[in-house]
Order: sequence, then C-alpha cells, then structure tokens
Amino acid sequence: MSHNSIHWFRKGLRLHDNPALIAALKDCRHIYPLFLLDPWYTSNTHIGINRWRFLIEALKDLDSSLKKLNSRLFVVSGPPTEVLPKLFEKWKITRLTFEVDTEPYSQSRDQEVMKLAKEHGVEVIPKISHTLYNINRIIDENNGKTPLTYVRFQSVVKAIGPPKKPVPAPTEEDMKGVSTPFSEDHEDEFEIPSLEDLGLDTSSLGPDLFPGGEQEALRRLDEHMQRTGWVCKFEKPQTSPNALIPSTTVLSPYVRFGCMSARTFWWRLTDVYRGKKHSEPPVSLHGQLMWREFFYTTAVGIPNFNKMEGNTNCVQVDWENNPERLAAWREARTGFPFIDAIMTQLRQEGWIHHLARHAVACFLTRGDLWISWEEGQKVFEELLLDADWSLNAGNWQWLSASAFFRQYFRVYSPIAFGKKTDKHGDYIKKYLPVLKKFPAEYIYEPWKAPRSIQERAGCIVGKDYPRPIVEHEVVHKQNIQRMKAAYAKRSPEDKPTTKGVKRKATSIVDMLEKKSKR
Ligand code: FAD
Repeated sequence: MSHNSIHWFRKGLRLHDNPALIAALKDCRHIYPLFLLDPWYTSNTHIGINRWRFLIEALKDLDSSLKKLNSRLFVVSGPPTEVLPKLFEKWKITRLTFEVDTEPYSQSRDQEVMKLAKEHGVEVIPKISHTLYNINRIIDENNGKTPLTYVRFQSVVKAIGPPKKPVPAPTEEDMKGVSTPFSEDHEDEFEIPSLEDLGLDTSSLGPDLFPGGEQEALRRLDEHMQRTGWVCKFEKPQTSPNALIPSTTVLSPYVRFGCMSARTFWWRLTDVYRGKKHSEPPVSLHGQLMWREFFYTTAVGIPNFNKMEGNTNCVQVDWENNPERLAAWREARTGFPFIDAIMTQLRQEGWIHHLARHAVACFLTRGDLWISWEEGQKVFEELLLDADWSLNAGNWQWLSASAFFRQYFRVYSPIAFGKKTDKHGDYIKKYLPVLKKFPAEYIYEPWKAPRSIQERAGCIVGKDYPRPIVEHEVVHKQNIQRMKAAYAKRSPEDKPTTKGVKRKATSIVDMLEKKSKR
C-alpha cells in the first residue's frame, strides 16, 4: 500500500536520527512534514522572546533542509486535536508518525490524537529518539521502580547496554517515489511566522549568540568534537560558572528542541573517547547526558514532578510567598553582584552555566530568600533557551535540597563562590556595567566599599545599585535550621534510608569543595 503520511515535528526538529520520519517515508507516496503552533503552549507555559526566536530559526532551518529533498514544512496554528482530523481528511492521510514525548501534557495530547487517528483509519507510528533510552524500559528494568539516585540509575542502564545508534537523515534515495504536494503559494498558507506575526515585543531581544537549527547544532557539535583533549578531560565541576566564553558546550538548547539528538551527541563522544584515557560519569560529557536521562526517568516515574505538593519524593517546605524578593531576584536587583550578573546574562542571552544556575537557585530557595523552587522554575522556564520540563523541575528540586540532594547545610555563598573562578569580577563587570569601575576588592561586596571609592566608581550603593537584599551570613544559618525542621517532619516512609536508595554519587558541591582545598 502507498501511504499518505504526516510526520508531525514537535521537538525533534531535525532530519538526522529521526526514526519516526524514516517510518513515515516507508511505502509512502505523499509526505507532509508538519509543525503545529499549539495554543496550549502559549497560554500555559512561559516562553520568553529569545526562545521564540530560537524556535523560529530551527523551523526555518528544517524547512530549508526539507527543500533540498524537494519537500517543505507545513506550519499550522491550532490545537492538535482540532487541526489534525481536518488535515487527515484534506490530505487523505493514512499514516501519522511522531517522536515520543514523555512530558505529561504531551502524553495526554498524544493519547487523544491517537484516538482520533484511529477513528479516521490513520495508522500511528510513534518512535523513541528524544532520549538515549526508552525511559519506561529503564523503570521496568528496575523492578518497576523509578531509580532515585544516579548510581542506581547508572547500574540499570549499564545492564541495558549502550544507547541505540542514531539513524541517518533521509537521503534523495529514501525520497524516491515520495513527494510533498505543496503549491506555489505554500508560504501564504503554511508560512513560518515571524516574531512580529506572533505579536511579540521584540524590543527585549538579546544578542543571537546561539541561533537555532539542526545545521547550527551539528556544526557546533563538530567544533567541540575536534577538541579531543578538552572532551576527554572534561569534568563538569572543573568548568567555570562565570567564564566570559562558555566553559561547557552550550549544546543544551539544541538537544532540548531536538535540533541534535542526544544519541548523536553520545556516539560522537564515544568516537572521540575510543582508545584514549577519558573522564567518566558523573562528571564527563557522557555523564552529563546521563544526568539528562536520569531526570527524564524520574520525571516519568514520579507523579507531580514539577510541584512540591503531591510529589512524594520532594521534601515539603514552608517556603515564603514574598513577591518583592522574588521580583528582585528575577530582575537582577538583589544587591549581590554575582547573583545579579547571572540573572542579567540569563535574561539577555538565554543561557547560563550549570554552576551559575546552582548559585542563583540556591540563593532563591534554601540559601537566602526562602522562596519556593517552583517560582524559580517558572522564571527559568521563561528565560532559558534550553528550558525543559523534566530537567528544569529535577534540577530545581536538587538545588533546593528538596529531592535527590539532601545536604541542605551546604550553601553557596553569593560572595565567595564566584571569586574562586573570577577574582577580579570581569564577569560581573560585563553584565553589570554600573559596577565596572569598582576595584576588584569590592566588586563582590560593593556595599563594603568606603563612600570615597563608591564616588570614584561613579556608583553609590543604595542609589545607583541596590543594597544587599538580605544579610547572607545571618539568613543562611537560619535557613539551614528551617530545612532541618522540614526534614525532621518527614514521615519515616518518606526518608531515603527506608526506601533503600542511599545517595552515593559524588556531588558537584563535594567536588568543588575538594578543588578549593587543593
Ligand atoms: P554541558 O555540560 O555541555 O552538558 C552536555 C549536555 O548534557 C547538556 O547540553 C544537557 O543536555 C545535558 N546536561 C548537562 N547537565 C545537566 C543536568 N544537570 N541535568 C540534565 N541534563 C544536563 N538543563 C536543561 O537542558 N534545561 C533546563 O531547563 C535546565 N534547568 C536547570 C535548572 C537548574 C536550577 C539547574 C541547576 C540546572 C538546570 N539544567 C537544565 C541543567 C544544566 O544546567 C544544563 O543542561 C547545562 O548547563 C547546559 O549547558 P551545556 O549544554 O553547556 O552543558
């Protein structure tokens, strides 16, 4: 039988390692590559302007790659459950393919779509390619339980074996006998919208440091993989949160949108490692991809993963509702230059280093401001190019010591932490130019500078730059006690020891402490 297939792009905005797209092309006469602008996303999630731009660039890149195969991308606005049945009829579709998405909204959406497809006699082929493994298989292999530690998780995936190899992008050969019926005025009906079309205010757009798209992703991957020594020696805790040129790959936005598959990244690393001495998980680049897989697994296995309430793995904490403090954190007005510089970089550029995320997340929650990690999660969801439902929730729980990481007594100092890797505060000066004339001695604590120095720097604390929002030395100690109380309130069955899942992996905080003692 010759099929009329829709391949529905959601994440997975690429041609390489796209098994669902390959499945769509099998015994196919007409292929319709489709992207839906689902209004659910615009009304229920916070998407900042920089991420919209990344998405639009990724769609344009996809369309240009499809053109090379004599095909085109069809962009349609509307809820999938309304749009797809209409397209099934209009295009006489017999097959629908897509990449499996494990997020809760996507799961319920896809179930409904599959029901509708069945009613229309459309065969549905979902394929796994967003993650390294089939996440449900990982849980099954762990006796149906979600592994709650990285070490446990590692032993389960080790037993499964290495991830599958990525599948090549479709070639002209694969497209033989397959066509995309698009008309000359294709753009009029199915055009990729611009930011202006979407009604977005472009005045807050930051510099386009990480343009979206598969070509850009693969180019960046190639560039990194040529640095074989760097790849083999990569240890995450040795990278710097405040380097002026990113000290890690910044491939996260590309992996998040699926411009590059995690399996492609994984196997390229394997090729680089082959025959050479190299770092190992959890700190290596393979280890980073395993963190991603770990949090995807916990996000699938733990109900209400992005919330404190109803999340049995999450410590219940009496966080404070303090809109003024939250706004000061979000808007880079805490009076702690290291924190404010990071929040400025986040807003302007859409990416910050992992340890910079540690610093601001700890500060907002258990460290200083005692505000719920769910609030921080929302801000990151809006501003990060790589904002990812599972990874954002998992890492926020980690940093707030609400789950996975329990050493709440280890608090990042908003002053000392940044100094370790940037003594002179060049990073602060870049993102907070108001402080650029402060001498290094006071750049992390400008409020301590004598008035004459503040005057000479052209910046009076309390007038041109805020005073610190809290006294870190005092509040962090009080907050440790509050965390202690929250932990003490846990019922015995909530405690990790009775679950038999004791944390053994070395944490990044451990590694940093070791490094600073060296
Ligand atoms: P690299 O160090 O080069 O790592 C390679 C890849 O491994 C990354 O691209 C990413 O896909 C994956 N990875 C690395 N670290 C982690 C990690 N800790 N958890 C999961 N995957 C990881 N990452 C996101 O992709 N989306 C998020 O929404 C997100 N939210 C976060 C929120 C908080 C509070 C914190 C502390 C971390 C968060 N992270 C998130 C994880 C991590 O900070 C980023 O993945 C990483 O900094 C991306 O930069 P990179 O590509 O240079 O990473």
